[in-house]
Amino acid sequence: MIRLATVAEMRAACDAARADGGRVGFVPTMGFFHEGHRSLMRAARAENDFVVVSVFVNPTQFGPDEDLAAYPRDLEGDAAATEAEGVDVLFLPTVDEMYRDGARTTVHVSGLTERLCGASRPGHFDGVTTVVAKLFSIVGPSRAYFGRKDAQQLAVIRRMTTDLDLPVDVVGCPLVRETDGLARSSRNVYLDADDRQAATILSGALYMASEAVVRGQRDAAAIRQLIVETVAHAPQVRLDYVEVVDAATLEPVDQLAGDTLVALAAFVGKARLIDNVTITFPAGVPTPDLGVLTASTGMQEADH
Ligand code: AMP
Repeated sequence: MIRLATVAEMRAACDAARADGGRVGFVPTMGFFHEGHRSLMRAARAENDFVVVSVFVNPTQFGPDEDLAAYPRDLEGDAAATEAEGVDVLFLPTVDEMYRDGARTTVHVSGLTERLCGASRPGHFDGVTTVVAKLFSIVGPSRAYFGRKDAQQLAVIRRMTTDLDLPVDVVGCPLVRETDGLARSSRNVYLDADDRQAATILSGALYMASEAVVRGQRDAAAIRQLIVETVAHAPQVRLDYVEVVDAATLEPVDQLAGDTLVALAAFVGKARLIDNVTITFPAGVPTPDLGVLTASTGMQEADH
C-alpha cells in the first residue's frame, strides 16, 4: 500500500490503474477506522482491481460549534488497517490541497438535505456533496462504497450521482454495530462508560419499533412515539430528531407501505450520535434491516 497526499499523484495513480484495464473502487472516510469502515474496504477489495481509501476530515461539513478540532485521528492506526485490508492507496490530502485559494463552487442537493440531520446541521450536506464530488473527480472510481449508518448521506450521494450523471456505481453497505447494538462510530470515543451504556437505548428503541412494524403497526406517528417514550427511559440521552420517511426521497410518511427509513439523532454526553433502521416490504412482508452486530459475524450483501 502506498500513501499519497496530492491531487496530481492520486489522479496519476488511478489513471495508471485504469490504463491497465483495472476498475477502481473507492471508500471516502474521515478516518479513525472501526469495523464499519473496514467492512466498506473489504467490499471494495472484493469487487475491484484497485482500491483507494481517502482520509480527509473535511472542514466544510462541520458547523462552527461542532467537533472539527476534537475529531479523533489516528493516522498510523488507519494506515495499519488499510494495509491489513489490502487497500492499494491511502489518500491523505491536506485541507489546502483539497481547497485551493479562490474556490467558489459548492454542490448542493436540494430537498433531501433539508430534513433530518440537515435541519440541525445547516450546510453539512453541502460540505459532504462538494467534497465527495471532488474526490470522485480526482479518483474516478467505477464504484464508491458508503455505509447505511449514514442513511441520509447515502440517499443524498445517490441523488447527486444521478443528477450529475457521474459514472460511479454508489454501493450501500450494511450498518455495523457493536455486539450490544450500538452503531459503530468514530464519535463513540467521546462517550464515558455511563454514556456508552445509556447510548444502547437508541438501537434498542429502533429494534422495538421494528418489532412493532413486524407485528402490524403501520402508523408513523405511533412508531415515532414508541421511540420517543423508549429513549425517555435514559435521561442522559437527548433526542435531536426521530423521523419516519420514504427511504429514497426522505419525505415524511404517515403510513408505512414502501421502503421506509426510521432515523434518529441524539446527544449523549459530548457526542451526537445517529442511528436508523430501513424497513422494506418484499412481497408485502415487513422486513427491517438493522445491519450486522459485528463485522466478524458475517457480512450481508451490499446493494448496488
Ligand atoms: P466517516 O469516516 O464517519 O465519514 O464514515 C466513512 C464511511 O464509513 C461512510 O460511508 C459511513 O457511512 C461509513 N460508516 C461509518 N460508520 C459505519 C458503520 N457503523 N457501519 C457501516 N458503515 C459505516
